[in-house]
Amino acid sequence: MELLNTAAQESALALDDLRFAQEMDSRDPLAHLRDEFAIPTVREVAGEDAVDGDAACVYLCGNSLGLMPRRARAILDDEMDEWASRGVVGHFRHSKDRPWVRYRWKVVEKMAPIVGAKPLEVGVMNTLTTNLHLLLAAFYRPTGTRCKILIEGKAFPSDHYAVESQIRWHGLPASALLLAEPRAGEHTLRTDDILELIEREGVNIAVVMLSGVQYYTGQVFEIARITAAARAAGCVVGWDLAHAAGNVPLSLHEWGVDFACWCTYKYLNAGPGSISCFFVHERHAHNDELCRLAGWWGHEEETRFDMTNRMVPAAGAAGFEPSNTPILVAATLLGSLDVFSQTTMADLRKKSELLTAYLEHLLAARVGRGIQIITPRAQRGAQLSLLFDADLFQPVARALEAAGVVCDERKPNCIRLAPAPLYNTFADVWRCVDVIRSAASSS
Ligand SMILES: *Cc1c(COP(=O)(O)O)cnc(C)c1O
Repeated sequence: MELLNTAAQESALALDDLRFAQEMDSRDPLAHLRDEFAIPTVREVAGEDAVDGDAACVYLCGNSLGLMPRRARAILDDEMDEWASRGVVGHFRHSKDRPWVRYRWKVVEKMAPIVGAKPLEVGVMNTLTTNLHLLLAAFYRPTGTRCKILIEGKAFPSDHYAVESQIRWHGLPASALLLAEPRAGEHTLRTDDILELIEREGVNIAVVMLSGVQYYTGQVFEIARITAAARAAGCVVGWDLAHAAGNVPLSLHEWGVDFACWCTYKYLNAGPGSISCFFVHERHAHNDELCRLAGWWGHEEETRFDMTNRMVPAAGAAGFEPSNTPILVAATLLGSLDVFSQTTMADLRKKSELLTAYLEHLLAARVGRGIQIITPRAQRGAQLSLLFDADLFQPVARALEAAGVVCDERKPNCIRLAPAPLYNTFADVWRCVDVIRSAASSS
């Protein structure tokens, strides 16, 4: 907020003035990255009858499905051309120097810095929930009383079902699922409460598996502290980073996380159903004790095609990939990562903090009544989760839709807004709040 106030003074414009938002956009060192994306028009998202249909829509839904980077389409087209013109030869000789047998390395090199990992530690395969299962197959090894998995009470349903079914698959009782719940009357988990639970239950916990950023509340978990405490208690620690990757800076290697996985269609903009990535810490790179579910692609590269039926796992995350890389979905991811490569997570975070602080400020200053922000100010990424008073929710949600402001509505009364620093502008934030303001004042 301080930076915003200073900028307002310097520009002699009021924070609440659209011209201030435009001034912020003109000073934004990352502004050029917006041109990397296809931005839908108001008409395309709100329908033929929308007012001002040719204008760019306000897209605040990158926490659900990021917009299309133009490079994603370009690289996908390249691979289709390669397939058309070379067939199987493309696996080994490729006109753009991306032979398909080693394609994963092109992805991994660019993904690793985004999550604070070494390339050795990052893998690319499947979609997120499937990877949760494959990683739990290797890392969830219940023994005696140390058989529980700790997750959030309000984990994303897919994670809940995955963990619940893993427990059942091991023939263990439902009581092996341990849920961390917020205190009565609170929306988010306190780190101290999580640490206390780990200390109390630690000897019974096999795996701690929380989300890096909570999908509903937008709360960023203190991954470093929780990981350290859980490891000290003898637990394996995994993180679901679906809402964290590409949103907040991460240091998975340094934090000592055992494993993690994330999808790439949210803040990572690789397209609907795009391929997932995962992390396995270097200390497990040569760990043959882990009972991973294997396939030929996880075999060390040098001898993979010897077809001896003697499995020699590749070092690191590569050893966890059973199948050959699906090139067409890896291509869109590669295109998206080429946009990330033009900046850093630190610079994206700086802009993200400004956008989200501006959103928070405008909501308070221009709307005021009827909205509660449940995302903790000191623990947030791009997203703000707003709870609306019962009478406001429907009118506001309808007004946003009609105006071509794309965001995520959760019944009965939650709207999640996520300005993405790669393509959103301060003017986007201003316009969104302006629609909420007029809907709230006329209802
Ligand atoms: C988005 C999301 C998923 C989606 O799972 P898929 O397997 O990609 O369909 C799972 N878990 C969390 C926490 C998510 O945010």
